[in-house]
Amino acid sequence: MIERSLVLLKPDAVQRGLMGKIICRFEDAGLKAVGVKMVWVKTEFAQKHYAAHLEKSFYPGLEKMITEGPVLALVLEGLHAVETVRKMVGPTEPKTAAPGTIRGDFAHHSYEYTDKKGIAIKNLIHASGNIAEAKEEIKLWFEDKELHTYETVHEKHVF
Ligand code: ATP
Ligand code: MG
Repeated sequence: MIERSLVLLKPDAVQRGLMGKIICRFEDAGLKAVGVKMVWVKTEFAQKHYAAHLEKSFYPGLEKMITEGPVLALVLEGLHAVETVRKMVGPTEPKTAAPGTIRGDFAHHSYEYTDKKGIAIKNLIHASGNIAEAKEEIKLWFEDKELHTYETVHEKHVF
């Protein structure tokens, strides 16, 4: 039941100075950061990360968005971490994401607007969609030596 999920604070989150606020939500929920680094993604790497979307009409805009500045990559660990993180992040379109979710609280971009502009939806954050995707994405983004095992106070005193 203890899982790991890959989370990216995309360039819009970094440039808006929201890294601390977003990480705080995950820490408050008891999720443990076991890997953290800042990466400026190049085109080739973006194509690997978003391989499933390469043929989609929105891909060029997505590649432009993910390479336009550094991202903060995180591996979060916890009970049902993949599902928990997705729930906290909310659905893809910020306009329909409910208040209380990260995308709903910090953005309001819509498909209607991005379709007209030919840009990707700016939704601040990427989170692995399922356990298999999480394993692949963590392998792509992090070396084993960049992932850490330690005990939090929750594990020592709360669980
Ligand atoms: P992510 O994988 O980033 O966590 P997601 O799983 O909610 O997001 P995906 O369908 O995997 O959504 O799409 C990846 C990213 O591509 C989205 O987060 C968004 O930035 C962008 N995107 C997806 N669909 C569209 C679209 N129809 N128009 C514009 N951008 C889109
Ligand atoms: Mg996805």
